[in-house]
Amino acid sequence: MDKINEMRFGSGTFKIIAGPCSIENYEILYETAKELKSRGVNMLRGGAYKLRTSVHSFRGLGDAGIMHLAQVGKEFDMITVSEVTQIDKVEFMAQNIDILVVGTRNMHNYPLLESLGKITNPVILKRGIASTYDEWMAAAEYIIESGNAQVILCERGIRTFEHETRYTLDISAIPVMKQKTQLPIIIDPSHASGKSSLVSSLAFAAIAAGADGLMIESQVNPLESICDAAQTVSPETISWILDTVPDLRLHLTRMKL
Ligand code: PEP
Ligand code: MN
Repeated sequence: MDKINEMRFGSGTFKIIAGPCSIENYEILYETAKELKSRGVNMLRGGAYKLRTSVHSFRGLGDAGIMHLAQVGKEFDMITVSEVTQIDKVEFMAQNIDILVVGTRNMHNYPLLESLGKITNPVILKRGIASTYDEWMAAAEYIIESGNAQVILCERGIRTFEHETRYTLDISAIPVMKQKTQLPIIIDPSHASGKSSLVSSLAFAAIAAGADGLMIESQVNPLESICDAAQTVSPETISWILDTVPDLRLHLTRMKL
């Protein structure tokens, strides 16, 4: 896990995690990683166990998807990031994936949070869709009190009365959580907006408000994504975001090759 230590969140550096909503097959993940890496992205996301609202939707490749992500991550020397949805997959994922994610639907799954306290991998804790700051903080404490202090908060939009966007990005979460805790906080503008045309604006807002990083859904052919195509952006867009914010690239931690 040495490479993780070089990638500490919240240490004055800025982190970009990008990759598809779900790992669809090895080839698309490989091509996506190649394009992202060549544009300076060092952290690759991809879901293997997708918690879909409809049982009829594509629910991911499961264990095979995790092995694809592990392999592609090695191939391009990228930190891998993926969501864990159940306790009996924690150990398998901890062995194969660098950073585990608790998705919004599991923020209140306390037994899962406790099991993530027993591993040494960093954990990204997404905010529940209707959770207060204190409930979110209390969820983080379940992981920390169980033995793992490497928790990264992720604001991914909360449910409001507005339907134009998928959720409502709560920018206040950044300064408020920074007052409450020293834990790093990243923003997911993809799920917050649900629309690729809004992703860069929300990303810029997050950077301006002091976020420690971003997690963005990206795929080589965004519109062909099986899952969340409408909010998925191209690697070129990610590159454009990095280039548009003055000095942002200087703050991206480079991995030692
Ligand atoms: C995801 O990041 O793949 C995801 C499902 O996000 P959320 O849990 O925020 O809906
Ligand atoms: Mn998604």
